[in-house]
Amino acid sequence: MQTYDFIVVGSGSAGSVVADRLSASGRFSVLVLEAGGTDQRFYVQMPLGYGKTFFDPAVNWNYKTEPDPGLAGNADHWPRGKLLGGSSSINAMVFIRGAREDFDAWAAAGNPGWAYDDLLPSFKAMEDNAAGADQWRGVGGPLHITDCTDAVHPLTKRYLAAGQQAGLPLNPDFNGASQEGVGVYQITTKNGRRMSAARAFLRPAMKRGNVRVETNALATKILFEGKRAVGVEYEQNGQKKTARAGREVILSGGAVNSPQLLQLSGVGPAALLGDLGIPVVHANDNVGANLQDHVGINYTFKGKLPTLNQILRPWWGKLLVGMQYILLRSGPLSLSMNNAGGFFRTDPSMTRPNMQLYFQAFSTVIPKSGERPILTPDPWPGFSIGLSNCRPSSRGEIMIRSNNPRDYPRITPNAYSTNADVDEMLAAVKFVRRIAAMPAMAEIIEEEVLPGPSIQSDADLIQDFRKRSGTVYHPVSTCRMGPDASRAVVDPRLRVHGLYGLRVIDASIFPDNITGNTNAASILTGWKGADLVLEDHT
Ligand SMILES: Cc1cc2nc3c(=O)[nH]c(=O)nc-3n(C[C@H](O)[C@H](O)[C@H](O)COP(=O)(O)OP(=O)(O)OC[C@H]3O[C@@H](n4cnc5c(N)ncnc54)[C@H](O)[C@@H]3O)c2cc1C
Repeated sequence: MQTYDFIVVGSGSAGSVVADRLSASGRFSVLVLEAGGTDQRFYVQMPLGYGKTFFDPAVNWNYKTEPDPGLAGNADHWPRGKLLGGSSSINAMVFIRGAREDFDAWAAAGNPGWAYDDLLPSFKAMEDNAAGADQWRGVGGPLHITDCTDAVHPLTKRYLAAGQQAGLPLNPDFNGASQEGVGVYQITTKNGRRMSAARAFLRPAMKRGNVRVETNALATKILFEGKRAVGVEYEQNGQKKTARAGREVILSGGAVNSPQLLQLSGVGPAALLGDLGIPVVHANDNVGANLQDHVGINYTFKGKLPTLNQILRPWWGKLLVGMQYILLRSGPLSLSMNNAGGFFRTDPSMTRPNMQLYFQAFSTVIPKSGERPILTPDPWPGFSIGLSNCRPSSRGEIMIRSNNPRDYPRITPNAYSTNADVDEMLAAVKFVRRIAAMPAMAEIIEEEVLPGPSIQSDADLIQDFRKRSGTVYHPVSTCRMGPDASRAVVDPRLRVHGLYGLRVIDASIFPDNITGNTNAASILTGWKGADLVLEDHT
């Protein structure tokens, strides 16, 4: 059995950074166990290829939630990356850090070092922002961020104008002074290729002799001696293997898998573990609890002007954008489908935005089973304004259903299970219609296709968003950080409460969800988490 200083489970947004930073000095040996395979695939590297990876079992865990009463009984599809780079290799690439107040609230909850001003130097250091450096942005870091202002579809201008006509400011940088307003999204790409955490952090680290990455290696159990984690058991190519950690085991499996692996290893709710015959190493009811996620919905319109549908759908258009991509690494295939977006408040008395907007200059109303038809949109000129909540109060959980590590855990999101979440979404969908009714949009809209003009009453709007909403893929907080062992899983240094030699470093530690997409904050968690580990191993 081989011994490494550190074993990192999962090579996703956070795990890639952890592996990179722990190995950089050359003083420590690092083993990374990744359940999935390589990220060297065309549809992973090509930005808009995520329409293809959305259901692809070769790179995606393809989770399904329990039927959710809040979503009219639907069992939601939860894609999660299962490959080098994790979800950063299959995500929509929108680069949003989250709001100052989010991180300040993390710190105020008893987590010193996690306030925005503490984290800003790390946010700046990790990025290489094409828009240039300023008070908020960094250049020269490993993670390239593309400024898409000149590349977005012409209809985006109309969306931005309509947003301003509806009363929102134009915001040149959602990661700058404030989030509120409408603007063009920055994305994680470089030269027309996806900039995943694997590309930015893990692949450079893999060139070092002290990093070993095992792919198709599913961690099945953390090995303990008493209360100390000393290694990991894993399965690879049908074989059971073990590796020892001389210093620490670090879980970076993400918000679904980190609590799953803890539970399988005897760290979790005692009653659940008892029922499944798993010996309890350390009882903690918070493992898998406190699940928070963002849910969203699209309002889709038929336009009077051509949208991306007219170029992405016909064979000649596909050929054209394909050539443009292959020869120039530009055009729609080099972008996210979310060209622009924004943040707004559903109630002016709020101190900051509670809703996020997405503008997509194309539509995919006509369903295709097992495929997200981004690359084959509707035949008519459609576009969508999407939105999602930012800090919902609904809470769910992720709990194992058996002691078999290959059984998917039971995911219970409980979306829209509080009145506050329903009320704010109702106000938000009305605001989307307000944007669509502004002159810059109204004059180019032929009709609202979804939900359609017959849906007007509050009851109908609520029924519609319950039916059509789904995750926007930001589950967090299932191993949440906090100083109090009775309310959290990890302490502010990301060490698992009650145990030794074991940390969790990924999106599952967020004390609460952030205002915006979660990739940047997951990478930041990896960055900061690695700092904490290194401080403890001088
Ligand atoms: C379809 C989609 C679109 C998204 N769009 C955006 C977006 O536009 N912008 C944004 O900011 N965020 C987006 N996100 C969210 C963002 O990508 C995630 O929040 C972030 O990647 C989570 O990082 P993580 O490190 O916590 O987990 P992940 O990146 O999911 O990494 C976990 C890794 O651990 C591996 N693993 C898990 N269990 C085991 C095990 N037992 N053994 C070995 N390996 C294991 C997994 O295979 C995976 O590689 C999106 C996510 C998805 C799925």
